[in-house]
Amino acid sequence: MNNENQGKILKFPAAFLWGVSTSAYQIEGNVDNDWSNWEKSESRIKELKSKNLNPDDFICGRACDSYNRWEEDIGLVKNLNGGAYRFSAEWARIEPEQGRFDEAAIAHYGSMVKKLKELRIEPFLTLWHWTLPLWVRDIGGWENKDTSRHFLKYAEKLADSLGEDVRFWITLNEPQTYTGLSYVAGAFPPQIKSLFRANTVFKNLMQAHSAAYRMLKQKFKDKAQVGISHYVNYHTAYGNTLLNKALARLMDYLRWQRFIDSAEPCQDFIGFQYYHHDRVKFKPGGRFIIADNVNENSATNDMGWEIYPQGIYPLLKYLKRYNKPVYITENGTADADDDHRPRFINETLRHVQQAIREGVDVRGYFHWSLLDNFEWAHGWNPKFGLYEVDRRTFERKPRSSAGLYADICKNNGIMLE
Ligand code: BGC
Repeated sequence: MNNENQGKILKFPAAFLWGVSTSAYQIEGNVDNDWSNWEKSESRIKELKSKNLNPDDFICGRACDSYNRWEEDIGLVKNLNGGAYRFSAEWARIEPEQGRFDEAAIAHYGSMVKKLKELRIEPFLTLWHWTLPLWVRDIGGWENKDTSRHFLKYAEKLADSLGEDVRFWITLNEPQTYTGLSYVAGAFPPQIKSLFRANTVFKNLMQAHSAAYRMLKQKFKDKAQVGISHYVNYHTAYGNTLLNKALARLMDYLRWQRFIDSAEPCQDFIGFQYYHHDRVKFKPGGRFIIADNVNENSATNDMGWEIYPQGIYPLLKYLKRYNKPVYITENGTADADDDHRPRFINETLRHVQQAIREGVDVRGYFHWSLLDNFEWAHGWNPKFGLYEVDRRTFERKPRSSAGLYADICKNNGIMLE
């Protein structure tokens, strides 16, 4: 410990936004959409059983019951001294059938926005966080180019209903992760493995984004700040060889840089989500692999992901070239016992502060996540929450990181050790 620094606070810029992030499907409960149907399908259950997994642990079901407990959850954001809340609207609730908008569902999100404003918490609204209404699934999801047109109508409906109070709009959450997991790896519904089809999906997603961007700008000019939440991955070379270094740069380009480029000029800010550090290693035979955790000494989280908070710094420095505000719209770790999360948060933020000092225009940080939520294909096991959620009673209980994060938000900085 450095005695000179003890008790000092490493401050962030005065207007910095501190928040937490969630997504509708992962916390709301009782949604009827492409995911809820897929996770109960015969083929999915068979797949889980063949891996000796209990299918019940992979059903989202009532989730955290946040659709009913939203006021309590917004109260938790307030308890954390949060100044911003990123959440998503569920398209399947708002437009359960093509062209039929459910006014009660729209009013629900309207009440959330009003409550947030009343508590001086800035809403960051994500329009699409990976799930689709069944009727969209049935016309081929994002493979059908009409889906972009339908998405625009849905976005416009929300803009007309909530636009007076929402300044920050995130059209899409990590379009590249979705495309990769649903259309290349075949891990998410509709479990396709085709680069060709993935390419169509990605193009249609970006088309949907730019149309929604233009619509929001036309309606609200610069009062609306519109962007995408991008997945950004840190790659380094295994063994530091020239070949592996070149491959690491190539992976940067293939996995995230080109996607940020493709959103230009339709983004007012860059939404940035950091979770992974991968070491890239050439595999003889002309193929290369991305080797996770090849350093035996490095610590890992509950999902086996390397704990590497410092990776955020070079990534933020890279983003400087876009000359746009950056919001870290997700960052967190799966840690049921809260063993490494406090240090992870402090270390991450120390590096974010350094990037800011060196000129990167980072305007906010949203921790993932407020609650233990449904972690997609990994089901209920991973625990990302600052608050634990009892799966039976839905009681929320703060982990010790919640206290730490509340202090950070209050002090607008981290305590130096
Ligand atoms: C997604 C979240 C997810 C988190 C942790 C992000 O890529 O946007 O929905 O829970 O990763 O895996």
